[in-house]
Amino acid sequence: MIRSAAILVAAGSGRRAGDGAPKQLRELAGIPVLQRAWAPFAASEAIGEIVLVVPEETAQAPPTWLRKGPGRLVAGGATRTDSVRRGLLSLGLEVETVLVHDGVRPFASEGLVGRVLSAASGGPVVPLLPVVDAVKEVDGSGIVLRTLERSALRRAQTPQGFPAGLLRRLHEAAARAGRSATDDAALCEEAGHRVVGILGEETNLKLTTPADFDFATWLLETGRVQ
Ligand code: C5P
Repeated sequence: MIRSAAILVAAGSGRRAGDGAPKQLRELAGIPVLQRAWAPFAASEAIGEIVLVVPEETAQAPPTWLRKGPGRLVAGGATRTDSVRRGLLSLGLEVETVLVHDGVRPFASEGLVGRVLSAASGGPVVPLLPVVDAVKEVDGSGIVLRTLERSALRRAQTPQGFPAGLLRRLHEAAARAGRSATDDAALCEEAGHRVVGILGEETNLKLTTPADFDFATWLLETGRVQ
């Protein structure tokens, strides 16, 4: 019986990282980013099912590495929220705990996946890191309105973990209301659920720009990540 599942959302167009294929489908030191991203989930004995949410054209004609991967392919939607919902709909009702991870984060460790999974049976959990820069709120023209109190701010990462029934209900409600959210923890917060923060990882990068790819390559070359 499958009790825990992971959904990797990788259906974004990812064009900020330069021209060509979406960044999650590109190679990083010879291995596709998404393949690196699914590795700690595939290595976890506790995770019985992996769903890979990819662009529709990729789901229809997947490259060999993706076809041979450990995950079931599902076509994504117009927003990240919609892509997660499609992944959730493809899971069996026996799944009790679900982890949601960005396919553009290739370096989450097996330890982090394990910690999120252990905490998630009790309620929503999100990996967080402190903010080191001063953070300013600006208006539409870039004029600074105020400085936010940094000590109360955190950067949120994935994987985020949830009781599956709760996440299903929140996504159904969001879809009915035509709403989308930055991440899945936000849906929980907005609905008044307690979300527990655990310590994230500095190396758990979200690849967004070409410079992120350069930094990721350096992390690999220097052995700081695998
Ligand atoms: O858009 P953003 O950079 O926040 O995307 C975070 C993750 O969500 C990426 O892995 C991206 O591929 C995925 N995504 C998706 N479907 C979308 C938009 C984003 O699966 N429509």
